[in-house]
Amino acid sequence: MVDSERMLAEIVQAGFPITAETDNADVVVINTCGFIAPAEAESLEAIRHAVDHKLRGAVKKVVVAGCLCERLGPGLLEKVEGIDAVVGLSQRDNIANIIKKIFSSEIGGRCEDSYPNQPLPPISDRVVDDRCRLLITPQHWAYLRISEGCNHRCSFCTIPAIRGRFRSKPMELVIAEADELVSAGVVELNVIAQDSTNYGRDLKIKNGLSALLRELEKIADLTWLRLMYLYPAGIDGELIEVIANSDKILHYLDVPLQHVNDKILKSMRRPDTRDKLQHLIENLRLAMPDIVLRTTLIVGYPGETNRQFEELMDFVRWARFDALGCFKFYPESGTSAAELPGQVPDKVKQQRFDELMVAQQKIAFAGNKDRVGGSLTCLVDSVDSGDLGRGRFYGQAPDIDSVCIIKHCSAKPGQFIATKVIGTQGYDLLVEQI
Ligand code: SF4
Repeated sequence: MVDSERMLAEIVQAGFPITAETDNADVVVINTCGFIAPAEAESLEAIRHAVDHKLRGAVKKVVVAGCLCERLGPGLLEKVEGIDAVVGLSQRDNIANIIKKIFSSEIGGRCEDSYPNQPLPPISDRVVDDRCRLLITPQHWAYLRISEGCNHRCSFCTIPAIRGRFRSKPMELVIAEADELVSAGVVELNVIAQDSTNYGRDLKIKNGLSALLRELEKIADLTWLRLMYLYPAGIDGELIEVIANSDKILHYLDVPLQHVNDKILKSMRRPDTRDKLQHLIENLRLAMPDIVLRTTLIVGYPGETNRQFEELMDFVRWARFDALGCFKFYPESGTSAAELPGQVPDKVKQQRFDELMVAQQKIAFAGNKDRVGGSLTCLVDSVDSGDLGRGRFYGQAPDIDSVCIIKHCSAKPGQFIATKVIGTQGYDLLVEQI
């Protein structure tokens, strides 16, 4: 999304009007994801849809950008015919020029600077500068990317091959970007990276994430600072202390565990053990009794036995995560896990996925019930014409978590309001303004 926002800003600055309606557009730009099979399928479907529009004459050019371009390389053009330009990750800031060139190009209507006329440039080790974005989130919250790439080599993961080696943005650049966003009205920054906890290591900054957070906290008009994608082994005592003692860093952490069985974690090339993960959760809860925890898990990893899956289920029942995302294992080409023996049949993966999500649903619903009668500060995200608002308390990250449905909401988007929890609606909380 950050890359999309940067490209939109480049496009607007070049003088092109933008529209969300495909039928009104001369050019459709599709920024793709491609880290697992379903993401690739979704991206390809969007590209085919745009190419169909082009064949019907509703659209003149189709440009594809982002991760799938890096992942598939020339294979992308074999999968879908009719793409006019392919824009690699390192060409992101050149998007407007590429669009201009497609229209002036005589080489089959394709841009001579991009596929298929030129190979994609290698993913650079350059630090990305994400300042100057056209936000497509509501104007009061934004993502703040603090680093790019990943040096871990989890056996199942395609991301390091797509996004390159880990590199932190210099702290001054992160602060400048945060300042820019807050000056434009953002009150909630969601800190993202492939590996947030590693921030600053390549810049030789000691306890880099903690140091960065201390600086970000100083931004006067920033109210909420939320940390996403924390690699569990990177969470140390100092970071916990910084978060626990902060008025702005939310007591909400997204810590993807992937699994808890020692043998599977080792095969995944992750340094954790079940004991370490259990201690981490205990320490977080000890330091912050009000902490809201989200995690991500994989079921059906090669060789996962019923017993190992049951161990995962036991852990989930014990940990009582507030929110949990589950992936069925996908044997992605180019990853070592795809070649492992003992691939789990799809049917078994689905059963384990269903079982885990049903157990988690009970936990999440019970957690919601416990909040009924309590009061919460909500950030209003939207309000409809009937005064029904949607917002979030600190324990709900935008886009991925549940929301608060706000009855009789008289506030505007971007405002913080005091609410009382009056009920639940599935995963969501029903609240009313007080
Ligand atoms: S830490 Fe995350 S991004 Fe890096 S290799 Fe592991 S799963 Fe992939």
